[in-house]
Amino acid sequence: MSLDLNSALDTLTPNVNSKSGPGCGIQRILDQLPPETATKLLAKIDDPSIQASAIAALLRDSGYHAHDTSLRRHRRRSSNSGCTCPR
Ligand SMILES: [Zn+2]
Repeated sequence: MSLDLNSALDTLTPNVNSKSGPGCGIQRILDQLPPETATKLLAKIDDPSIQASAIAALLRDSGYHAHDTSLRRHRRRSSNSGCTCPR
């Protein structure tokens, strides 16, 4: 039995999770949140006067898998030391 390649190709669907910043846990959380909450969270992430570890702890308390390092990387996104998420 050989597979019909033409119809087999139709079963390949884009991986929605890898749309932006593959491997970035923070972007994954932002994608899950209601727009209003995501905007608020991003504003805190982009505020350097707020500790990254405090934001990550808050997210963990709310049931999200957020690492301090991911949060710091997302804060520096699109720079050499940051994640690949768009700014
Ligand atoms: Zn990111």
